Amino acid sequence: MYSKVKSAVVVGLKGSVIEIETQISRGMPYHVIVGLPSQVIRESKDRVKSALKESGIRFPDDRITQNMFPAHLKKEGAHLDLPIAMGIMCCIIEPKVDLQGIGFIGELSLEGRIRPVTGVLSLVEGFIEDGLRQIVMPRQNLPEVGGIKDIEVYAFDNLNDLVRAVEFGEMSPASIEEETVKRSVGHQIDFNEVIGQNHAIRAIEISAVGNHNLLMVGPPGCGKTMIAERLRTVLPPLTPEKQLESAKVYSLLGERSTENERPFLAPHHSITRAAMIGGTNALIPGIVTRAHNGVLFLDEILEFKNEVLQSLREPISNSSVLLTRNHQSVEYPCDFQLIATMNPCPCGNHMAKDLNCSCNDFEIKRYLNKLSGAILDRFDMLVLMDRVELKDVSEKNRFFDSKGISSRILKALELKRQLESSGIEIEMNSEASSILMRYYNSGKLSMRGHSKLLEIAKSIALLEGTETINRKCLSEAIAYQGFHRLKQNL
Ligand SMILES: [Zn+2]
Repeated sequence: MYSKVKSAVVVGLKGSVIEIETQISRGMPYHVIVGLPSQVIRESKDRVKSALKESGIRFPDDRITQNMFPAHLKKEGAHLDLPIAMGIMCCIIEPKVDLQGIGFIGELSLEGRIRPVTGVLSLVEGFIEDGLRQIVMPRQNLPEVGGIKDIEVYAFDNLNDLVRAVEFGEMSPASIEEETVKRSVGHQIDFNEVIGQNHAIRAIEISAVGNHNLLMVGPPGCGKTMIAERLRTVLPPLTPEKQLESAKVYSLLGERSTENERPFLAPHHSITRAAMIGGTNALIPGIVTRAHNGVLFLDEILEFKNEVLQSLREPISNSSVLLTRNHQSVEYPCDFQLIATMNPCPCGNHMAKDLNCSCNDFEIKRYLNKLSGAILDRFDMLVLMDRVELKDVSEKNRFFDSKGISSRILKALELKRQLESSGIEIEMNSEASSILMRYYNSGKLSMRGHSKLLEIAKSIALLEGTETINRKCLSEAIAYQGFHRLKQNL
């Protein structure tokens, strides 16, 4: 007796179709699975046996050999329980449906329930790429595939129902309702709650246009965290392609992403390296990948462990992270915007107008060295903040609210799109060029810093609604190059 069923595996975020051949022959009772199965799959034999029995299928007391191919792909994931069970079942009963056109995924419990699995979107994408349009999956995963067109999904809660459907040829596609996840009901925060600090809010606005990494430096209580957290109220929505990318990441983690809202991750400073960039045990995406297409916010960046900060260097430059375990490696995307805050010195009062800093030079130097040794050069913009003066306290921010900032950002991005599609490059006028030349010659700027500065000036020009970087745009961009001022204190 022989059968062949199809399933898929995920490597990184990419799904690939695999086939499972099953051969049952007379002989001593024996069940072997070959073709690079992981430990989890070897364990699935017990679940499959128990689940089949519970579903009224007499488990054969014969030799069962199952082969998974292509051989080079590591077969990993409890979602292969169901196809393994189907392989055995289809040797025993005569299926009334054409199995070759169907992909199977699902984890089995001992009593035959079909449990939800992770990575559904990547698996389904693998099926589609292989030309498979019919998919059998756990009912609980159904909402995840709501947005995918041209597929027929058969959703089941337990193996028994699936066995009957296959036996009698009565499979009916589930209706994939357009599940809409409501945008988390109004972010209750708004930039208009911030008092003063207009230049820092403006820096956030610019950074959001160009995804510039921004470091906010200032004494405790000056509003750094409050402003950084409000960035999430003005982030532009994800495009459909980016939405799918993010949804795949969250599907792999067994979670739902929140539609077109950009992720905003603010890990605690006690986070480990593995949690930040991804687990080395199970090759599970870390915080940086969850932040893909969104923001990674590190509040009080110097409180984070040095090895954690160091581990961010590569992911920030490459927009991707490579995890390796034994001989297997996977690459996950992590194109995020980095926002961080820090005090200018251990006591926090250094560079503050009316306050005395109690740190000595050595302490300040050691403090700042931790950052410059790790990821200072990964920031594009720096904004130095001071405490808000008393005269500002009486009134809330009159110039900025989240709605206004958000619509300015959207306008700037629309202009960028228009310029790109008509092949127009943003250029600098001669006055701005000569200012830039002088600034560069003053030695305050590296080559790398030079190109970063240009990118920021471009974002400012877009916000101004122009395709020319003029003196005003460039001067403002230079104002966010406070890195040498920070280092001067070394
Ligand atoms: Zn101090």
